[in-house]
Amino acid sequence: MGHRDIVLRGGRVVDPASGLDAIRDVAVAGARVADIGDGLPRGSVEVDVSGLVVTAGFVDLHSHVNDLAGLRLQALDGVTTALELEAGATPVSTAYRNAAAQGRPINYGFAASWAQARMLAVGGIRPGPSLAAFLASIAEPHWQRPAEPAQITAMLDALSADLADGALGVGVLLGYAPAVSPDEYLMVAALAARAAVPTFTHARDLIELVPETLIDGAEEIVRAAAQTGAHMHYCHVNSTSQRHVDRVLSVVSRAQAAGARVTTEAYPYGSGMTAIGAAFLAPERLGERGLVPSSLTYAPTGERVGSIARLRELRHADPGGLVIIDLLDEDDPADRAVLMRSLTFPGSVVASDAMPVTWTEPPADPLAWPLPRTAITHPRTAGTFSRAVRALTRGAGTLGLAGALRKCSLEPARLLEDHVPAMRNKGRLFPGGDADVLVFEPSTIADRADYADSTRPSAGIRHVLVNGSFVVRDSQLVIGAAPGRPVRAEPR
Ligand SMILES: [Zn+2]
Repeated sequence: MGHRDIVLRGGRVVDPASGLDAIRDVAVAGARVADIGDGLPRGSVEVDVSGLVVTAGFVDLHSHVNDLAGLRLQALDGVTTALELEAGATPVSTAYRNAAAQGRPINYGFAASWAQARMLAVGGIRPGPSLAAFLASIAEPHWQRPAEPAQITAMLDALSADLADGALGVGVLLGYAPAVSPDEYLMVAALAARAAVPTFTHARDLIELVPETLIDGAEEIVRAAAQTGAHMHYCHVNSTSQRHVDRVLSVVSRAQAAGARVTTEAYPYGSGMTAIGAAFLAPERLGERGLVPSSLTYAPTGERVGSIARLRELRHADPGGLVIIDLLDEDDPADRAVLMRSLTFPGSVVASDAMPVTWTEPPADPLAWPLPRTAITHPRTAGTFSRAVRALTRGAGTLGLAGALRKCSLEPARLLEDHVPAMRNKGRLFPGGDADVLVFEPSTIADRADYADSTRPSAGIRHVLVNGSFVVRDSQLVIGAAPGRPVRAEPR
C-alpha cells in the first residue's frame, strides 16, 4: 500500500470493462490508478465525489483540434485522449514533436495521413503535418488527380515511414478526392493490413447522392476489409450517410457478419463542418446533398452564404476557411432518430470530429480563458460526449449509463489496443491503469454549446484527471495544466 496523491472519495464508480457499478473510493498515485475499494486510506488530496459518477475519461478517435482553446473545450467535455485519426498527419514524427513542444492538457496521437502524403506525391504540394496547411490546399485540383504508379509508390512509402514511427493507423480522407481510383484505396488498405493497423476513412460519395461515383462509398469500405483483411473504420457514419444511414449500416452489418473487421463512429449533430474548398461543396455539386448556399455558415464571419456568387468568392479567397453545413434537421424527430441509430448501432463509438477554433477577429490573447464570443467552432467540439451520454441515457430505448459510457471510453480504446498497447491502460478504470479519470454529475451532464454560441463548455463535468493531474477541478479549467502525453503504436 503505497502513497496516494489523490483519493476520490465515495463516488459511484462505473467501469464497463469490469462491470463494476458501485460506490467506491478511487486512489491515484502519480499517473496511475493505485486502488479502487471501500474505505481506502487518506490521500494527500481528498475529494468528496459522493453523488457523482466516476469513470474512465473519454477517448475521442476523431479530433482535428490542435489549438489550446479547442483542447480545453474537449477536456471540459470529459475527453482525456483526443486522437487525429481521420485526417492524420504526415510526417507523423513532426506532428508528435510539435504537440509535445506545445504542451497539451489531454493525451494526443496521430494516424498517418493519406491525403497529406498524396498532396506531396501527386500534387507537388508540401503541407507538412498541419491541418490548416492541408485545408488551405484542399481545393487544389492537382492533388486529387488519379495517380501514376510511381506516385502511388511514393505515397505508400511515406505512409510506411509514418507507421515505422508509431502512427496509430492510416487516415484516408477519400471523400475529398472523388476521382481517386478504387484500386489505390485497396492498395492503402493492403498496406494497413500488412502492418496490422486500422484505416480511418471519410467515405467516398454514396451512390444515392452521386450516381456516377466510381464505387459506392459504403461498399468500397467493406470491400476493402473483405479483400485485404484490413480493419476498416468508417468515420462519422452520420454525416456522410445522411438519411441513407440505414442502408449504410446494413452494408456494415453484412460485412461484419461475414467476418470482416469494420467499425463505425458517429456524433450526435445534424450538421457537419469542413473547409469551404472541399470538392463536394462546389456550387454545381451542392444539390447532391440537398444543399443550397445558405445551408453553409462561414465560420470566419459567421455569415450564412448568401448566393452561388458568394460561395465561389469564398472558395477562391479562403479555400481552407471552415463552414458549418446543415445536413440533417436536429428539430425534426425523424432526423434525430437517424442520428440515434448511427450512435446506437452495435459497436458504433462516439467520436466528435472536433474542429479547431476559428476567430472572427484576431484574438488579443489566444490563450485567454474563458473564450470570448469571437471564438467560433462547431458545437460538436465542445459538446459531443456530454450530448451523447445524455441522449443515450434518457428516454425510451436507451442504453443505460454503462452502455453509454462504454461507447465513449472502453470501445474506442479496444478498437486500437491490438496494435497500441498503451490503449489497454485507457478507457477503463483498474488499479495500475492510467489515471485518466472523469467525474460527472449524472443528472445534469449536458452539452451547452449550440450554433449561436458554439464554445460554451458542457455542464455537469465536475473533475477531469489526465495522467493523475487535474485539468478540470470543481467544473473549472485548470489553467496551465499540460499533463497530456503521446499515444503511439508499436512501430511497424
Ligand atoms: Zn470527415
